[in-house]
Amino acid sequence: METETVALILIVDDNLDNLIVLSTLLTDSDFRVLTATSGQDAFQKLDHITPDLILLDGTMSEIDGFELCYRIKNSPILQEIPIILMIASNEIQGRFTELNLESLDYINKPFLPTELLIRIRLNLQLLTLTRSLYEKNNQLNQEIVARQIAEAQTYQLSQNLEERVIEETQELTLRINELQAREKKLTYAAFHDSLTGLFNRAWLMQYLSEIFDQQQPQHGYAILFLDLDRFKSVNDYLGHLVGDKLLQQVAHRLKNCISQSDKIVRLSGDEFLIFLVNQDGVQSVEIVANFILQQLHIPFNIDTYQISIGVSIGILPSTLSYQQPTDILRDADAAMYQAKRAGKGCHIVFTSEMQQQTLQRIQLESELRQSIEKNEFCLYYQPIFCLTSQKLVGLEALIQWQHPQKGIISPDKFITIAEEMGIISTLDLLSLQLACQQLYRWKQEFSIADSLVIHINISTVQLQQLDLVEQIKQILSENQISPSAMRLEVTENAFIKASSIVNQVLEKIHTLGIKLCIDDFGTGYSCFSQLHTFPVDTLKIDRSFTKNLDDGIKSTAIVQNMISFANSLGISVVAEGIETQKQLENLKKLGCQFGQGYLFSRSLPSEQVTSLLKSQKF
Ligand code: C2E
Ligand code: MG
Ligand code: MG
Repeated sequence: METETVALILIVDDNLDNLIVLSTLLTDSDFRVLTATSGQDAFQKLDHITPDLILLDGTMSEIDGFELCYRIKNSPILQEIPIILMIASNEIQGRFTELNLESLDYINKPFLPTELLIRIRLNLQLLTLTRSLYEKNNQLNQEIVARQIAEAQTYQLSQNLEERVIEETQELTLRINELQAREKKLTYAAFHDSLTGLFNRAWLMQYLSEIFDQQQPQHGYAILFLDLDRFKSVNDYLGHLVGDKLLQQVAHRLKNCISQSDKIVRLSGDEFLIFLVNQDGVQSVEIVANFILQQLHIPFNIDTYQISIGVSIGILPSTLSYQQPTDILRDADAAMYQAKRAGKGCHIVFTSEMQQQTLQRIQLESELRQSIEKNEFCLYYQPIFCLTSQKLVGLEALIQWQHPQKGIISPDKFITIAEEMGIISTLDLLSLQLACQQLYRWKQEFSIADSLVIHINISTVQLQQLDLVEQIKQILSENQISPSAMRLEVTENAFIKASSIVNQVLEKIHTLGIKLCIDDFGTGYSCFSQLHTFPVDTLKIDRSFTKNLDDGIKSTAIVQNMISFANSLGISVVAEGIETQKQLENLKKLGCQFGQGYLFSRSLPSEQVTSLLKSQKF
């Protein structure tokens, strides 16, 4: 009951006077009042109205106050309504216990109005408290239920979460396992050769780096660098499938030649490397190498073929020290290459002398590369004479390297290296340029006109450049040199092995009016039979033949043949390397027109040639 609303009190009494008195009292005390004159009447009213308190007369005819009380307290709807029973003191205890109404409030008649009012108010307060307690209890129950629901939901959620975590963990574990397996596969593929299952180059480089990083004492190991002999023929003639099977069988045999702690690597194609450990000297390594040679010498049965191959082995003993894994490979490869050059099917041990040579070569290569940028080249000229008239007819330009520490280095020390390094074109163009500039200066100083021909050596590599002809044309015109004053010297093999590009270039050069000369004639696959097909003007007999003219009838016959053959084709002949008077006489007898050599002059710097030209009559 809210405090602002006025309480409604039902007064039940069959005595009308009492009813009026009580009604008046309560109305005057600001209560709302409802009256019933009997128990029956009260019940009918209670069907429609729920009062806040019932004031009940204990003694009534028909249904008395106790009976009515009993009924109200047993009605689920009405039982909460507070009741004050008005009774005479003699009717008290027996009836209360009889009807189980001990907790009921009562007031003894006669009572003072104030007493009744206090009782009523107390009961109403109690009712208010009970109701608010009831409400609170209700709220509390609702909260408990809500909390229980929330807890149940939380439990369910955590249960679901747990299940999901378990599921996802399982999935993740599966995925991690898959990834690990994949990574394992990838690592295997990265470090193994798919054909033979052996380690590959990447693995070797890592392995060697690790050894260097750990700075382990590099004793007791040895490296065998193997390259199969005749493998290319197997691949070319029997096909790649047979080649692959052969490599697999080779790998298998190699495995049987070494111990478990040794490592075997397929470097590329038919190249293998074996890393031997626990070796106590070169001899024990050579025993392994010999065993491998012997094992790979046994023919292989592949499909219907019986295939015989061999192997060349380079041995790198641990006595040599290294800073870089790549240097190890380089030297092991070099030793293998020596074994190939020594006739294949053998092994060669890399020595400290070989290492020294390799290092010198590396040093030379690096210096040579820099020398071009530093412009360390000049030309020397070797005079060429007419053998009968002794007249100067030409000058062969020979490029020289002016090394800042080592002095002049002659071309036989660096031309082949420059070719292998791929820088020969630069040197050839430089020769062309320097020779033409120098010839221009001499032409200004002396009236040599075109009677003096400048010979310039050109590498076969350079002849493969289609723009060479244009470059020569430009150099000639820049220096006002007539093409007929230039003769290009090309080695014999360049003609023999000439590709269609080289042929085109040679033809164009010749058409330009530049003369062509076969250099070192007789050292290559002498091309007598094809000579007439080349646009050649001059043939230079190699100095090895000139040298032999001193003491051999055989070489005299050869040179004789060369000269008469050239004459028959209208090709002029120059003999190289004339060192003795006897050689000169012989050459003259054989009809050789021109010659050069130490007997006349070594190659000279341009200032000395200038002095020579001063003494010549043109
Ligand atoms: P080459 O063209 O056959 O030159 C002749 C070589 O024999 C020169 O060696 C010369 O000094 C040497 N020689 C000359 N007369 C005698 C002699 O009487 N006795 C002996 N023992 N040797 C003699 P050089 O100067 O060392 O040149 C070597 C080779 O280098 C040349 O052989 C030539 O093929 C090549 N070369 C020189 N300059 C160039 C160049 O600018 N470009 C190209 N591609 N090659 C060049
Ligand atoms: Mg030459
Ligand atoms: Mg020569």
